[in-house]
Amino acid sequence: MTGKARSGKAVSGSLEQYRSKRHPDRTPEPMGSTSGRGGRRRFVVQKHAATSLHYDFRLEAGGVLKSWSVPKGPSTDPREKRLALRTEDHPVDYADFEGTIPEGEYGAGAVIRWDVGTYRNLAERGGKKVPVAKGVSDGHVKVWLEGEKLRGGYALTRTGPEGGKERWLLVKVKDEEADARRNPVNSEPASVRTGRTVEDVAEE
Ligand code: MN
Repeated sequence: MTGKARSGKAVSGSLEQYRSKRHPDRTPEPMGSTSGRGGRRRFVVQKHAATSLHYDFRLEAGGVLKSWSVPKGPSTDPREKRLALRTEDHPVDYADFEGTIPEGEYGAGAVIRWDVGTYRNLAERGGKKVPVAKGVSDGHVKVWLEGEKLRGGYALTRTGPEGGKERWLLVKVKDEEADARRNPVNSEPASVRTGRTVEDVAEE
């Protein structure tokens, strides 16, 4: 078996958990496909008013969106360590999703694209880049975000398990984009694509 065939199989397998939780005939969410394209990698932070409000932080890597649920959302202050619970890989086209997941379905509630952009991988070991998908399995991810609200370095570090989900911390790296006075989670609540808030989407 070639390395290529092996990795292709691993990628499609990583969406099984995502698909097993959803009914394609009842939810507007994409069932999605994996992506093999290289070049610029996308990131998205989706504000999700589910049973409890949280922010889903997703990085395109290995043909899927590697995902974490961040209850308090990302900070621009390097002193703020934000809990991030690892969730199942999502299809890459989920980055475009904004809408309402119907009552009774998994994750029911409004979702907006709170921030969207591209990122660069900053993780290196021994002078070599560590692929983001490998960093996720190893528990260390460092990226440079080029979003509309979030910019600069962010580090994700696994600190242990929690209730069957891996427990990570999401922290702003100290760099020229760090700003302890900004608090975009509070001051910039709307979708960067439609200008809607989760309340607007829920009412609609
Ligand atoms: Mn969510």
